[in-house]
Amino acid sequence: MSRGPEAFTCRFCGHKERREEHVVLHIGRAHAGVLDGQEAAAFAAAKKEEEAILHRVSLHVGAALLVLPIVLFYLFLIGALLQAGANIGFALMGAPGIVAFCVFGYFLMLSRDRLSTRPDLIDTPDQDRDT
Ligand SMILES: [Zn+2]
Repeated sequence: MSRGPEAFTCRFCGHKERREEHVVLHIGRAHAGVLDGQEAAAFAAAKKEEEAILHRVSLHVGAALLVLPIVLFYLFLIGALLQAGANIGFALMGAPGIVAFCVFGYFLMLSRDRLSTRPDLIDTPDQDRDT
């Protein structure tokens, strides 16, 4: 499989990347000792952005791992009920609740990050009394 054009090149070793921020990350990691101030600042910004993306991905993976077993169990339950000769309407009776629970659980898992990085959102009456 072709990787396509690689337009950005490391000025130290010739390493090529398709995106400028990937070259900035490469330079910051492979040539950290020879960076000037502007390159170090660009590397810090690119690294911060990369960490933010990885954190968002990890939140979605965590939320999906919470929801997936519930969905699989419910699909198994529907299959078992239909196999046992139950009416399809009866087998699907719990679907709206399961879907709502999964959607709520997914977005709750995504918002746990916002809650943990915003301590001002968490009620701490003991601290209020001391001040
Ligand atoms: Zn390089």
